[in-house]
Parts: sequence; structure tokens; C-alpha cells
Amino acid sequence: MKEFSYKCCGCNKKFPGTLLRFRCPVCGEPLEIEYTGHGKINGEGFPENMLERYADFFPFSSVNKNISLREGFTPLVKSSRLRDELGVGEVYLKNESINPTWSFKDRGTLTGVSHALATGYKAIGTVSTGNMAASVAAYGARAGLKTFILVSQTLPPEKLNPIAVYGAEVIKVKGDYGKLYFESLKIGEKLGIYFINSDVPFRVEGSKTIAFEIYEQMRGDIPDIVVVPTSSGGNIRGIAKGFRELKQYGLIETLPVIMAVQAEGCSPIVNAWERGVKTVERVEKPETIAHAIENTYPPSGNEVLRMLSSGKGLAVKVTDKEILEAQKRLAGEGLFVQPASAAPIAAMAKLKREGYWKGREKVACVLTGGGLKYTAVFEKLGLSSRTCDIQDLERLIPQIQQD
Ligand SMILES: *Cc1c(COP(=O)(O)O)cnc(C)c1O
Ligand SMILES: [Zn+2]
Repeated sequence: MKEFSYKCCGCNKKFPGTLLRFRCPVCGEPLEIEYTGHGKINGEGFPENMLERYADFFPFSSVNKNISLREGFTPLVKSSRLRDELGVGEVYLKNESINPTWSFKDRGTLTGVSHALATGYKAIGTVSTGNMAASVAAYGARAGLKTFILVSQTLPPEKLNPIAVYGAEVIKVKGDYGKLYFESLKIGEKLGIYFINSDVPFRVEGSKTIAFEIYEQMRGDIPDIVVVPTSSGGNIRGIAKGFRELKQYGLIETLPVIMAVQAEGCSPIVNAWERGVKTVERVEKPETIAHAIENTYPPSGNEVLRMLSSGKGLAVKVTDKEILEAQKRLAGEGLFVQPASAAPIAAMAKLKREGYWKGREKVACVLTGGGLKYTAVFEKLGLSSRTCDIQDLERLIPQIQQD
């Protein structure tokens, strides 16, 4: 590793990069990496590895090319239909379902595994029941590391199997799942297991590349607003940090507004934001179809609140009904994403109803993960098909053509 330091998001204390801890030993808030390069972006076209392309933004002294599964470099798709319907200047959809395990988590998993290897770990792990679990299991297999995935005891087989298939040690843990994030970090420290949890510093670093790519894909321009479905707060922190670094290196002049979106049935960050308080409170009975953004006590919640209020920030919550509508709307553009990933479009529609848009805004929505991960939602989407005998087809189709 090159020389870098950790800065606490809460008390601003600094620690050397050799510290193998993921949260501030003084106040318990998340740590953030401080590293200064030159802001140089390497190469062009389609590179093999995001850590090579953006090497100058990370403190790795070398890149282990055998770990990448070619994550990142996801498409940024413009939608003129959504632009017109939502009444803004442009809608950009950053399609993260193109990643190797179908969600943005692969970016932070790559940076996390790279750091684990660079610091001599032989085992990694995570606490998750969904996308992060699959991602860490996949990269653990790829890197040949012993991999521990801690899930809740009640996880149904259809969610467990897509994790277990990679050959990780999946442990169903009885007890308070909400405590497992902190418990796993403690155990990992003792037993030498690098838990690449939702908002650990090197996972957050991985999410910076979403900002770098948007900047490159817009040819040096940036959106006015970036909309991010938010759970633990790790991804939105990384994306915001990516834009801050682009500005710090003089590559862009202004920062985009960052908008956090949560589901009404589990919105600890938006609740705190709306009440104007500085700390998040645990949500007792979460209820939403957007399971990927269902963290009841987000470990980076306080930092997201600080970030949104210190810069240009916004926090919006949307109902499950609005999320389902947005999911269908995106499918109508050819993009089937999971409910959590449709939340930004739901938020844009809500803001349109509230008269928020002026009509010229360039808005980028981060579509965090693919729809096939969560097929149970099909029941709720009211989908239909027709049945017909083969000899009647020629009569039926013209009827439909006239509709
Ligand atoms: C993990 C995840 C999120 C939430 O990201 P955080 O970093 O926990 O805020 C949103 N959408 C999808 C699809 C995810 O997998
Ligand atoms: Zn601190």
C-alpha cells in the first residue's frame, strides 16, 4: 500500500493507514480514506480493470489483475422518454445491473478484497442477505480466500442459494441481526477476517468509480443532480467522495446535488433529515418491498446526514406503490431493475408532482442492481399475457394490432 490515512467522519481524528480498523476507535463513527494523488485518469476506451484506470485515486501500490471480474464501466443510458415525462432537461440511467454479480456492490468488493490481500488477510467476510453477500462470495472464490457470509436465520432458500453457489461458508445467525454489523467487525479483528461490510472505508472507495465513470461518460460534464437509493449509506458516500475528488483535482468546477432516496417503510435517514436532527434513529418495524434499502439502523446514517446538510443535498422517501410504478416505468425503457433501484425514478416523479423541477436539470439516477435478483415482485406488478390456439393466431394478432 502507498501511504494514506484514515479520517474519522464524526470527530475528524486522523489515524495512519496501517490501522486495521473500520470505525473510529474514539467515537465509533465511520472512517474515510485520505489519500492524495494527481487526479490522473489512465488510458481510454474500454479498460480491463477500474483499479488500473483510476489507480491515481487509490492508495494501492500495485493492482492484482487476477481478482477483477471486470466490474464497473457500466452503461450510462439516456432516456428521452423519462426526461419528457418527468419534466427535466436530461435523464441519465447508470445501469449497475451490468456488474458481474448484477449490482454495484462488486466495485466496493474489488477494492475491499484488494486491500485485504495487500494487508495479508487470508479470510474475508460480510454481513448481508442480498447483493453484497453474493458479491463478496463471488470475489472470495475468485481470489481463493476463505469467505464467511453471515445471514439471518430466517433467510429463505431462494435468497440463500445465490450466495451459497459460490462456495462460501454461509452461516445463519440466530439473534439480533441488527447487531451483526458491529459484532462481525469485532470478531474479524480478533480472528483475522476482513469483513467487507456495507460502509467500511475501502468499500466506500470502490463506489467513487461510479462518479468517475459518469464524469467520463458525460465527456467531462457532470449531472446537476445524482439520485441514489440509500440503505447503509456506503454507496452514496462513495459517489459523493468521487465527485469531491474530481473537484479537488480541478477536473470539474462544481459539485452535483446528491439526493438520497429511501422507502417510506424504512427511512431512518430521511426521517432524521425531515426532522432536522443530526443522528439517525433505529426503525423498529421495517416494511418495504425494496429489501436492498431496508437497513433499519444505517451505520453511515449520521455521516450521510452531515454530508447532505454540509453540501448541496436532498433526502426523499417514496412509497412501495411509487416504487412499483417506477420499476414498471423503467421496464418500459427496457431496463428491469430491482425495486430499490427504481426508487430514484419514483423520487423524481414525486418531485415532479411537488413542482420541484425547473425543466433544465440533468439528472443521473443510479440503478443499483438487476431485477432478476428479486422475482417475488412479479406478483405485485400485475403482469398479464394472452393464450390462443395456433389456428386462431392469425385472427387474434390483427385484433391486437388495432388496439
Ligand atoms: C446495497 C444496495 C443499495 C444500498 O446501498 P448502501 O451502500 O447500503 O446505501 C441499494 N440498492 C441495491 C440494489 C443494493 O444492493
Ligand atoms: Zn471519531
